[in-house]
Amino acid sequence: PPHLSDRVVALQPSLTLAISARAKALQQEGRDICSLSAGEPDFNTPEFIIDATVKALRDGITRYGPAAGDPELREAIATKLSKENTVPTNAEQVLVTNGGKQAIFNLFQVILNPGDEVLIPAPYWLSYPEMARLAGAKVTTLPSTPENGFCLDLNNLEASIGPKTRLLLLNSPGNPTGRVMARKELETLADLLRDHPQILVMSDEIYEFILEEGQQHYSFSAIAPDLSNRTFIVNGFAKGWAMTGWRLGYLAGPADAVKAATALQSQSTSNVCSFAQRGALAALQGSRECVKKMVKSYNTRRELLTSGLLSLEGMSLVPPKGAFYAFPKLPPESLDSVSFCEQALENHGLAMVPGAAFGDDSCVRLTCAVSPETICDGLERLRKALKQS
Ligand code: PLP
Repeated sequence: PPHLSDRVVALQPSLTLAISARAKALQQEGRDICSLSAGEPDFNTPEFIIDATVKALRDGITRYGPAAGDPELREAIATKLSKENTVPTNAEQVLVTNGGKQAIFNLFQVILNPGDEVLIPAPYWLSYPEMARLAGAKVTTLPSTPENGFCLDLNNLEASIGPKTRLLLLNSPGNPTGRVMARKELETLADLLRDHPQILVMSDEIYEFILEEGQQHYSFSAIAPDLSNRTFIVNGFAKGWAMTGWRLGYLAGPADAVKAATALQSQSTSNVCSFAQRGALAALQGSRECVKKMVKSYNTRRELLTSGLLSLEGMSLVPPKGAFYAFPKLPPESLDSVSFCEQALENHGLAMVPGAAFGDDSCVRLTCAVSPETICDGLERLRKALKQS
């Protein structure tokens, strides 16, 4: 239509939303639906975070604040990054954003020029390519396969680098695969990037706490401190502290770009909800017991989902080591992922997210952040759907 901008006409509507809308419609018709399609924790936000936020409201923290975020919160985030992630950071290098999502959006807007190329390892979180295109950039995906454990193919990465390559995205623990990048892998990647000084790195660490026992999260900047002047960290409170609806995230990295992202934010959304930021501060200052408890629970349920998927005939799975998803591969003779998910929903009442949304049409994404009963019910429906396909 003539009244829409070119960039918005090109925007892909979210496949995830289409599936959940259809699942909801079927539910309203009275169908019994089992949903493994969610992308969020199934816990309520810990009580002490809510208490601190209610107190902030009562104390009158209800006005405009600095666009970059509450100074105390920026300081607490800088301290967290410096101590926990061993990435020396000061408060000027931190921007508080409306979720990790806005951190990524702002970053792309301030570092990408039209025609710049962004390298996105696939399968990827579905908003990355769309946000890169909204910044006018060209997307080059770097495919990986379940057969090689979804490992980044460094030869292919190197071969994909051209004069316009500007940014490489990393996401560990990863959505949708649950893959955790090993220290060695990050070191080798850093070596490669040392030869390409024009390439910036964005490391999305939003699932950093959600790790199988024995796994460790490494921030790319911690592995390659000499590259920290071109590495950005994106993180947030949504997944670790079960705060998806609060819209609280942050961007950290080189001060000039963070300053530019702050200017952009000051002319678009301004500060993140002032009293919600007090909740985030409480989260960072409080005990991590609540996070540990939730992680333990995801781990039990991830195991349940993983063993169930591995026992299904025809499915193959790279067992996830983090986050709360599994991304199994459909049998070779199966339908494409969108048709398979549509059929599973229509015929068996099972909602999943088609792998096509994440750049891999041979897989589907299921969550384990639901009750064990729902996982078992979902696995049974999936078994039937596979039989039929
Ligand atoms: N990055 C990844 C990999 C995600 O899966 C998500 C949420 O699904 C986000 C970033 C954004 O999180 P939020 O904007 O809710 O903080």
